[in-house]
Amino acid sequence: MKLNRILVFILIAILPLRSFCWGGEGHKLIGNVAWHYLNQGVKDSLQFYLGSVSLADAGLWMDEMRKNHEYDYMKPWHYINIEKGESYKPDTNQNVINEINKRIDHLKHRNLYSKGQVAVDIKILVHLCEDLHMPLHVGYASDTGGNAIHISFMGKPTTLHWAWDNDIMLQQHITADSCLALLATFPEQKIREARRTNVIAWMNESRSLLPNVYDYKGDTIDVAYADKNAPIIKLRLALAGLRLSELLNELFDTRKN
Ligand SMILES: [Zn+2]
Repeated sequence: MKLNRILVFILIAILPLRSFCWGGEGHKLIGNVAWHYLNQGVKDSLQFYLGSVSLADAGLWMDEMRKNHEYDYMKPWHYINIEKGESYKPDTNQNVINEINKRIDHLKHRNLYSKGQVAVDIKILVHLCEDLHMPLHVGYASDTGGNAIHISFMGKPTTLHWAWDNDIMLQQHITADSCLALLATFPEQKIREARRTNVIAWMNESRSLLPNVYDYKGDTIDVAYADKNAPIIKLRLALAGLRLSELLNELFDTRKN
């Protein structure tokens, strides 16, 4: 009994640490989908800056830095909170929208920055484009984007945020290959439209999915909930990869620059 209580305390203590972004698997999946669509010249250019770090792993850097308090200033960059019934109003606050735009601007003018800084800009851009496609990164401050909602899924304690980051993706066997297979079914016109870089539209899409995210009762989400939302999660992951590739192609394709 005492041991059980200790275990519960440990679980409650570690949940908030891991529950902030697409899980590592989600970030890697999106990086792998993006890599599939990159031109060879862009791949070479990215590797020049990233060195031995793959694009998939580059997306993990911001989460790895969470363990280092010197990088605490980055914490507000992963999300934007907009309360229910409110809509986005541009401002100069630190949030995922402003930070993505800042990194795009840096990378457009990368000749002004050191190689190391450009590598950091790439890592931040990759991570935040991925985060922006997760509905709970554009959620409500009142429950810290679902991080404060403790629920159970498949008999295990989790949070609503982590369920959308990681648990449902793994339970439903969503992979980079299944996302690429989904995108392969899209007509050319749909792919062209989906690729367009529009950070505000990506945010609004994520936000429009919040009613689905919160559509459960009590403190448990069941397999029916996972079955219903898996296609949404797969599409968000697929679109994040496709759009990240387009953005990187635009920024690093020397034929366009
Ligand atoms: Zn994040």
